[in-house]
Amino acid sequence: MNDMGMNEYIEQAEKDLLHTYNRYRIVIDRGEGMNLYDTEGKRYLDFVAGIAVFALGYGVKEYNDALKEQIDKIIHTSNYYYNVPAIEAARALKKAGSMDRVFFTNSGAEAIEGLLKTARKYGYLKDGRTDHEIIAMNSSFHGRTFGALSVTGNPAYRTAFSPMIGNIRFAKYNDLESVKALVNDKTIAVIMETVQGEGGIRPATEGFLKGVRELCDEKGLLLMLDEIQCGMGRTGYMYAWQKFGVKPDCMATAKALGCGVPVGAFMMTEDVAARSLTAGDHGTTYGGNPLAGAAVRKVLEIFERDDICAHVRETAPYLEEKLEEVCRRYDFITERRGSGFMQGLEFTKPVGEVIEKAVSKGLIVINAGKNVLRFVPPLIAGQSDIDEMTGMLIESIEETL
Ligand SMILES: *Cc1c(COP(=O)(O)O)cnc(C)c1O
Repeated sequence: MNDMGMNEYIEQAEKDLLHTYNRYRIVIDRGEGMNLYDTEGKRYLDFVAGIAVFALGYGVKEYNDALKEQIDKIIHTSNYYYNVPAIEAARALKKAGSMDRVFFTNSGAEAIEGLLKTARKYGYLKDGRTDHEIIAMNSSFHGRTFGALSVTGNPAYRTAFSPMIGNIRFAKYNDLESVKALVNDKTIAVIMETVQGEGGIRPATEGFLKGVRELCDEKGLLLMLDEIQCGMGRTGYMYAWQKFGVKPDCMATAKALGCGVPVGAFMMTEDVAARSLTAGDHGTTYGGNPLAGAAVRKVLEIFERDDICAHVRETAPYLEEKLEEVCRRYDFITERRGSGFMQGLEFTKPVGEVIEKAVSKGLIVINAGKNVLRFVPPLIAGQSDIDEMTGMLIESIEETL
């Protein structure tokens, strides 16, 4: 099937693709269940899932067939016309997210752009001002486009691309007082991840979420949750906020939403929808096209029918237990943290070498920041996968000592 060896493909890629990623030296060819295979047939146990994307595991026939069927019907129509897959996907997504209105995008970053535009329009209609402020969090990640980057609390991603969009203020995550201190008469919204992903796998505390919700209610601010990584069942709930019942006014979802078909969405309550974006305010050529709609519709159908969230809630304690064991074994691993199948191990040193060793052994894991090893497996992972992962992880760590 493949004409060249992996090294040749890699050499060619490094001549043609813009070098914006330091990639691991494997060329992935296909997937099956919890496993990936490279172009030379080597198997890898996958604890990354394309960064929290492929929730169902690879090669689910029912999902593949749904896409193939849609491809044979029609892939794209434009948003000037209605299409059945998107209509049905929106109904299912509203239900999953306990929201009232859905706008489909092509990516997570674009869903964040939609939230930021929603906040500004909401503020404009409220008091006619055009200098509203949005509060975001330190160590957050919301994407690479200008709006999303502007609310990303990591200067390393931002500085070279300044100026950012204006009037963003950063509070300290899980520190309610630091949020309160930034609120003034220009503030219109608070945006944050329910569980921070790229910033090092940090769940919001229940007290912080509830406190920010109360603050938003008291001051008339929109609470906007980025559930792009932590949503879609990853924490054992369709959306991570549902564990605490702290409902946002708007939210962003993507990654596992289409399980590989590029699609995201931002959603809001009817109240916000009635006071923000209206015809002509926002658009996209591809967003919610029939192919993306067919993917979302099928993914949500499988999630509900197979109760994927229940599997995560049942199995995650075992993953936590195994990671705790690894954590206790080495004094340079200081903490395990996370929620459900979104877990991190904090090291006192960079984790790059452990990842390299793991990949060479056939285990795919990734970092979240320099010193945190991240585990975001397909949501179908079972105890035997967790055992196999733990074994290879320990061997990989041992090899770096
Ligand atoms: C991945 C991610 C994004 C950006 O999504 P893209 O699809 O890469 O644009 C935004 N927020 C969070 C929390 C993410 O994990």
